[in-house]
Amino acid sequence: MSTRISGFRSSRVSPKSCAGLGLDPLIFVGRNTIESGRLLIAVQDKKLDAEIKKRVAEAILRFESLSEAEVKRRKLAAAPLFLRGKWDSVTAGMIVSYRISLGAPKNVYCAVDCPACKCLVPAALREARVSDERIDKDDIYWEVTYVVEQFVCPVCGLELFSMTEVRCAGLEHQYIDQEYESIQERFLNNYEPDDYGND
Ligand SMILES: [Zn+2]
Repeated sequence: MSTRISGFRSSRVSPKSCAGLGLDPLIFVGRNTIESGRLLIAVQDKKLDAEIKKRVAEAILRFESLSEAEVKRRKLAAAPLFLRGKWDSVTAGMIVSYRISLGAPKNVYCAVDCPACKCLVPAALREARVSDERIDKDDIYWEVTYVVEQFVCPVCGLELFSMTEVRCAGLEHQYIDQEYESIQERFLNNYEPDDYGND
């Protein structure tokens, strides 16, 4: 290989990509570069960890300054519209989705415990992957993988701007939802018989 791989950035990805090629990454970048890269990543991770801890601590302080009535009001306002009044029956980890109107994009949320104030609040999910479908008896099943790309707590105001920050704050960033539809729903309801009797 004639391309020279060097620098800190490459050491994060090269061991994996080299492994994929069945090669030893040390042949390309050298032990010192790899070690320096790992050290730098560790420093960056530590820095992020400290930053998130600081943000969580600030959010807890903000939360503690709120009155009970204000916390209640914010929690109620945070629930997706169709779940207002029913949010108390939602539990952490529950995935809820809805469309504002037929044909509108689907809004998907997961109920999560905020890492700072511990209130149960909705985190917006983005669809990342859809599995192949499988048929079991009369139903078609598939899995949808969702990710939390960012999170803003509507109660304490904690803000996490990326998946890395979400992970760092100890919030689950990936959720898998199983969806299904009956074969009848999928095919028969769309079947419109020919209009006999025109001739
Ligand atoms: Zn919060």
